[in-house]
Amino acid sequence: MEVPPLTTQQPEAGGLENLLHETRTFPPDPAFVAAANYGPSLYDDASADRLGFWAKQARELISWRTPFTQTLDWSDAPVARWFADGTLNAAYNAVDRHVEAGRGDHVAIHFEGEPGDSRTVTYADLQRDVARAANALAALGVGKGDRVVIYLPMLVESVVAMLACARIGAPHSVVFGGFSADALRSRIADAEASLVITADGGYRRGVPSALKPAVDEALTGEGTETVKHVLVVRRTGQETAWTEGRDVWWHDALESADTFHEPVWVDAEHPLFILYTSGTTGKPKGILHTTGGYLTQAAYTHRVVFDLKDDDVFWCTADIGWVTGHSYVVYGPLTNGGTQILYEGTPDTPHRGRWWEIIEKHKVSILYTAPTAIRTFMKWGDDVPAQYDLTSLRVLGSVGESINPEAWIWYRRVIGRDTTPIVDTWWQTETGAIMITPLAGITATKPGSAQVPVPGISADVVDDEAHPVPNGGGGYLVLTEPWPAMLRGIWGDRQRYEDTYWSRFRGLYFAGDGAKKDEDGDIWLLGRVDDVMNVSGHRLSTTEIESALVSHDVVAEAAVVGASDDTTGQAVVAFVILLGEHAERAATPEGRTAVEAELRDHVAKEIGPIAKPKRILVVPELPKTRSGKIMRRLLRDVAENRAVGDSTTLADASVMDLITAGLGTGSGRS
Ligand code: ATP
Ligand code: MG
Repeated sequence: MEVPPLTTQQPEAGGLENLLHETRTFPPDPAFVAAANYGPSLYDDASADRLGFWAKQARELISWRTPFTQTLDWSDAPVARWFADGTLNAAYNAVDRHVEAGRGDHVAIHFEGEPGDSRTVTYADLQRDVARAANALAALGVGKGDRVVIYLPMLVESVVAMLACARIGAPHSVVFGGFSADALRSRIADAEASLVITADGGYRRGVPSALKPAVDEALTGEGTETVKHVLVVRRTGQETAWTEGRDVWWHDALESADTFHEPVWVDAEHPLFILYTSGTTGKPKGILHTTGGYLTQAAYTHRVVFDLKDDDVFWCTADIGWVTGHSYVVYGPLTNGGTQILYEGTPDTPHRGRWWEIIEKHKVSILYTAPTAIRTFMKWGDDVPAQYDLTSLRVLGSVGESINPEAWIWYRRVIGRDTTPIVDTWWQTETGAIMITPLAGITATKPGSAQVPVPGISADVVDDEAHPVPNGGGGYLVLTEPWPAMLRGIWGDRQRYEDTYWSRFRGLYFAGDGAKKDEDGDIWLLGRVDDVMNVSGHRLSTTEIESALVSHDVVAEAAVVGASDDTTGQAVVAFVILLGEHAERAATPEGRTAVEAELRDHVAKEIGPIAKPKRILVVPELPKTRSGKIMRRLLRDVAENRAVGDSTTLADASVMDLITAGLGTGSGRS
């Protein structure tokens, strides 16, 4: 893209410190390489003719009703148009065309309910249900362009609901089923939705947990008058309050609906969904994605990153309420006609081996999950997965945060038998699909690094003046060329879109994440720019210090923040969760002092004295969003003795009380 003269908004010079030097590499197994779908020439093809490369992917992976003739139109930058004169339908691509190709009996979804019920859904089943649901939505007056909010647990119906919306050209906005009535209300109001699809409840930790009451409450709130109907899936059978005329049972609506439905063919740039970001740093933004480019990159990355084969059984553990669930549960895997797992519940219900049991049962071959889950499994011990046959696994993936090298090595050794490639995939709600990652079967992987842009994607790490940093340097991650699955804006707020992503470095997309390049030019993500600490003029990011702490035997999890300090400007404050017996040791003042000293020395030794935490606070839990990301801004409030800020997107609101109460008794404060 054209890069206008660069401006600097932040005068202070220099990028971020590069502290951690991880040198282990793991080339893929020769047998894996020999059988891989793609080789390194994929990178050459993409760089020889980037737009031609994307046009080829769009033609090969997607079925178009009207073929496109234009690839990228950047004339309204920073809002891109991809494949704009083509028409298609996302649900047709995800379902019908596989049935037409004779693969109707192929399993699309193995569903595992938390209470132990299971269900096998073929592409033919999916086609019938999606067509019925599309007819049902139309019968309720939902048409092309109308917004539908989906507030459901992880059910087959959730996938069907999303696809039914896509089929009629009604953009969906999935709101995570764990969010409160108020979070739901504000999203319904912002999207001006005409329909809400929900369930009576879902199973969570062995008990039915109601959902419908939150919808009822949300709809009494401001800005929700646009909602005409609520469609309710019966999952738990629990008693459910009913508003006659507004509420409709899903099964009733589908039962009377026809199994034939002609997809509504839409332009490539027709909105497919709005999704609110997870809210780690502040007020969630309604990220808008459209159809053709998004679908192309979701399908393409799902295929190349994981080296997808026809007989793979794929399991992405993300909830459909997150972008990962959109791209790697719904649109990527189904567009590729694959088989996948959908699990309703939590990893420890009814026991801590539940995931591994599911992998053994369905011979899962690709597992895609988040570092927070991996650290939890590490905490639970190697003996849990050791009880199951995990030999079907051939590729492992990670997403959501930087994966600490320690957790990466554990994932590979204990889950991957020391042989499976691990793909650490960096991307965002805004990017729509994977952007930076090793490719299974091609890249020699490095624990903790997302490494290289996907073929067809252009990224760089720049300093404050937007100059690329040299190898070994740290700075800010930017995307330097438009990409097919990029957001087309923030719903209803073009100015906020331009301000948030395009004003920091003109002509470059600013991701908001710190990053560095190692000596080979590989990219390492360092944490969010909002979380950078400035200690005596050194700009330190969170990831490396946290990884150094996690690499110590006694630490299960760690989060670091900068707190104002009279002498150094800011000081590093670390919050750590200790492993079992060490937590007991730290319960006495002497024990705690000893542990703190050990951890400080360890950080100094691993990455240098400048990164040594000034204070170490031993805590029982860390505040996380519902997608498992640590909310450091809340910890900063604690470290600076302020009232804790907005915590509405926190998974468990009581965690902050737990943390402050523990510290209030005098523990940890030095
Ligand atoms: P908000 O933007 O509202 O604060 P969020 O950024 O947490 O929410 P997401 O879009 O779900 O919402 O998360 C994207 C962010 O997650 C990235 O910008 C990055 O900080 C982090 N991330 C995702 N994958 C990786 C990865 N593999 N390595 C490092 N960081 C990652
Ligand atoms: Mg973000």
